[in-house]
Amino acid sequence: MAWEISRNSKKCIDCEIDFNENDEFFSGISEDGEEFVRKDYCCPCWNDETKDKSQVFSFWKSKVPEKEKPSRPPIDTEAILSLFLKLEDEDESRSKINLRYVLALYLIRKRALKMKPAQTSEGKNTLDLYCPSEGRDIEVNYLDLTAEEIEDTTNEVKRLLDTRDFSLG
Ligand SMILES: [Zn+2]
Repeated sequence: MAWEISRNSKKCIDCEIDFNENDEFFSGISEDGEEFVRKDYCCPCWNDETKDKSQVFSFWKSKVPEKEKPSRPPIDTEAILSLFLKLEDEDESRSKINLRYVLALYLIRKRALKMKPAQTSEGKNTLDLYCPSEGRDIEVNYLDLTAEEIEDTTNEVKRLLDTRDFSLG
């Protein structure tokens, strides 16, 4: 799995203005071949429609935390659900299947997705889920991942979402 994350740059990827405490900015996730790329934009650049953001398929708004309060920004379950739902429409590459599966496990923990009663699905690597906020069933395919691969994907989600709070434990 290949990832290229512009991590924690704390500056706008477009105009390169530095973000200061309490500045709001937008984080967008786009895909470059098999790689997921996270890009942070200042509000003026994000709102400037002349700048091409057509590759961004999921995004959320964040705020730079104050230095005196080193508390990390809380993980945004809605942003994760939105990213999860966006991935549904995409072609399923191996990295996307793994990402979608790990996000689904997290969202089940957070009760944003519900497991449906076990069905006869022998040999079928599919989670049958219900999404209350969408009011519909969602299927999640998965590969036979080792614990190590799940750990790797979990770590990449942390990088992608710029949080240390993401955990399946
Ligand atoms: Zn900018």
